[in-house]
Amino acid sequence: MARILIVEDEVDLSNLLRSHLEQDGHEVVQAFDGPTGLAQVEQHNPQLVILDWMLPGLDGLAVCRRIRERHLVPVIMLTARNEEIDRVLGLEAGADDYVPKPFGIRELLARVRAALRRGALGTGAATSVGALHSTNAARASAPASRGGSELPAAPGPVVRGSLRIDPAARTVSVQANQVDLTRTAQAKSASPRAALGRSSARNLCG
Ligand code: CA
Repeated sequence: MARILIVEDEVDLSNLLRSHLEQDGHEVVQAFDGPTGLAQVEQHNPQLVILDWMLPGLDGLAVCRRIRERHLVPVIMLTARNEEIDRVLGLEAGADDYVPKPFGIRELLARVRAALRRGALGTGAATSVGALHSTNAARASAPASRGGSELPAAPGPVVRGSLRIDPAARTVSVQANQVDLTRTAQAKSASPRAALGRSSARNLCG
């Protein structure tokens, strides 16, 4: 059904996830450290990445940011950290969903299915940022939703390099620093594509 990359240094957990995902018909690729995970994204072009936060080599946050420099593939972050600040950091790094450990395997599988559905609404497999498509705004609609009670679809964040535009939250961030916008400017930024065009023209994102 889908090619899924698991980046998780806990081998038993990774293998457990792999077994369940394969039972659901998915093809699974595993990486056990950050740099290998990044290389596997380039090599295998996955439709979904399940990414642990604490990883050897390069942590999940850094891996997520690096993935977002080139890809719009959905990322579900796993982490033992469960404080709000960490959720915010994970989401600002470009993660689409966030699952605190310990988690039930059924909950994670439900989130995987939801992420793949949202990905299918966009341009599908490991969309590159260069192929940015307006329907990508439809995915990543409910990153904080819990087990099946998804919120109605809202425009998802658009990421290009260090620039992140979140129409639903009416925020624009550059390198994780939120830009203070007036209401008028926010209204003008309602279209992510238009906003990206203007920002590129001003060389905001390098
Ligand atoms: Ca870990």
